[in-house]
Amino acid sequence: MILFVCCFTCCQVMSNKWAPSLELLKAKYTEGDTLDTLGLKHYCCLLMLLLLVDLIKKLLNYAPLEK
Ligand SMILES: [Zn+2]
Repeated sequence: MILFVCCFTCCQVMSNKWAPSLELLKAKYTEGDTLDTLGLKHYCCLLMLLLLVDLIKKLLNYAPLEK
């Protein structure tokens, strides 16, 4: 997981929203209901959470110390 600590635009803390959003999405919540449940109402925060791509597993393939 690589998530920004806070929103660049409004400085709302975002780092504590990633794990709950994944749990809600696994519980068959829609994306909109998930964001409403987490209390995210600004477009800037919505974009940061919805457009996040979990890259850590892909990046670990390029770790030089692992080889
Ligand atoms: Zn924001």
